[in-house]
Amino acid sequence: MTELAANLARVEERISRACDTAGRARSEVALVVVSKTYPAEDVRELAGFGLTQFAENRDQEAGPKAAACADLPLNWHFVGQLQTNKVRSVVSYADYVHSVDRLRLVSALSSAATRRGRGPLHCLIQVALEKEGRAPGAAGDSGRGGVAPEGVAELADAVAAAPGLRLAGLMTVAPLSGAYAGAPAAAFERIGEISRSLRERHPAANMVSAGMSADLEEAIIAGATHVRVGSAVLGVRPTLG
Ligand SMILES: *Cc1c(COP(=O)(O)O)cnc(C)c1O
Repeated sequence: MTELAANLARVEERISRACDTAGRARSEVALVVVSKTYPAEDVRELAGFGLTQFAENRDQEAGPKAAACADLPLNWHFVGQLQTNKVRSVVSYADYVHSVDRLRLVSALSSAATRRGRGPLHCLIQVALEKEGRAPGAAGDSGRGGVAPEGVAELADAVAAAPGLRLAGLMTVAPLSGAYAGAPAAAFERIGEISRSLRERHPAANMVSAGMSADLEEAIIAGATHVRVGSAVLGVRPTLG
């Protein structure tokens, strides 16, 4: 067995066990492999094991990697902070953008997606739980991407109304600061609550993208539909991605 095959088997085992604990079917949780900092050959090897969902966080790296794998039946998920000047490039290969966090980005994604002529772009609103109750840009703002929970409804309505875009759901990263720091289970319960209230207005927006290598069990137990796993499958990254 190769190292990647062994890592993947361990991650699959963790996902299955968490699904059992939660009383959920394994088919309710999709594994999205975050391939940032790893070469296209690793994506190719994992695709050979039947994986189809891959994520990247920087356009400069993602574009060439997606192009190198264009012969494979993959879906690309963009999960990094997205500048509007990168939107056109990202929309040329991405099927999902998990990091929608401001209105200006919604309009840029919409005009690029309507022009690309390959079906709607699935958009997830990135929720920054550490920004709850804070004014945008307030002192203590982590500077990481994501909108405060209070801003989700407005952004969701904008995505749902935008040509070329489909509102898919919510994404979050367990906070490093604020009330949820060090408490991923509570953070993921909170994103589950926000997802339930989103679905009252947008019933089809049922994706919850939460959980990474360190906390995928907590995310699955709280109802995540997509876990984004990098290092547990691919090994420890040589540099921070
Ligand atoms: C890198 C990254 C991941 C995966 O992190 P690991 O700890 O390597 O599993 C998940 N989500 C986002 C947004 C990332 O940037």
